[in-house]
Amino acid sequence: MTGSAETPLFGTVAFVGIGLIGASLSLAIRRHGLAARTVATARRQETLDTALRLGIVDAASTDMAETVADADLVMVCVPVGASGAVMRAMAPHLKPGAIVSDVGSVKCAVIADMLPHLPEGVALVPGHPLAGTEFSGPEAGFAELFEQRWCVLTPLPHTPKDAVERVAAMWRAVGSNVDTMDPEHHDRVLAITSHLPHLIAYTIVGTATDLGADLKQEVIKYSASGFRDFTRIAASDPVMWRDVFLNNKEAVLEVLQRFTEDLTALQRAIRRGEGDTLERHFTRTRAIRRGIIDAKQA
Ligand code: NAP
Repeated sequence: MTGSAETPLFGTVAFVGIGLIGASLSLAIRRHGLAARTVATARRQETLDTALRLGIVDAASTDMAETVADADLVMVCVPVGASGAVMRAMAPHLKPGAIVSDVGSVKCAVIADMLPHLPEGVALVPGHPLAGTEFSGPEAGFAELFEQRWCVLTPLPHTPKDAVERVAAMWRAVGSNVDTMDPEHHDRVLAITSHLPHLIAYTIVGTATDLGADLKQEVIKYSASGFRDFTRIAASDPVMWRDVFLNNKEAVLEVLQRFTEDLTALQRAIRRGEGDTLERHFTRTRAIRRGIIDAKQA
């Protein structure tokens, strides 16, 4: 199933939240002719004015009911902690046969928050594109963001197959590879591949910031020696990441425990001068980097 200018995959696609992810997806949908029109809502008029000025959507309104009423697909693109409230607010206005999907970085909590408000006759297809930058807001969006990246869908046992297939077709058409997995598995995988690395980056940059003023100058001056990569990750949106940690608590705490144990082992190797242990560990991890480059995810 693909979309084309003559036979778009969807009539109207509505975005609730039009920041980095929503704007990028709307631009990609428009570029590939996957919808007759895209519309958006957000809390602030300023956000919507920017989205309209940059040609990201055809229409925008702070009125949720008006925005979703005619939508065949509603993409929820807000911080994960707001998903339940968004679903509750839009539920009475969704048309029968509509599909609701999302892009949240956490799946179990989002599903638990949204599902109780899902109206009869509307399909929920939870999803998460594994693509992003440290920037936020509609002005950060770009149509190529999802190309050659994974998008994970976590449909529920009762999610209609055709709804899952239409959402998958949209992600494939914007250049993504699509995988499906259960939400618990998604949250465990992302805890180690995304959430823990962000926590580590926030910690390192915080530690450096707490050092004395002189040292801080030098931290910036010599940042290319490794610190710079952490500062990019630690510049990510504070609200989005607050919500990720609050909503994927168990999986994050579990990997954090293992990470702490491994860190302690390396700490001991350094203290005892066990060069072999360090070298063995660093050789093993170098191979992982090669694997990522080979998989074209670098
Ligand atoms: P963003 O750039 O900060 O955009 C968030 C959008 O949601 C804005 O348009 C904001 O506009 C709106 N919004 C915020 N709270 C809202 C609420 N309570 N009700 C309605 N609209 C609200 O964030 P993003 O980076 O696009 O992230 C959106 C989602 O994508 C998050 O769930 C995140 O976990 C997921 N995600 C992010 C990345 C990434 O790298 N950034 C990658 C993959 C997935 P107003 O402030 O005007 O309301």
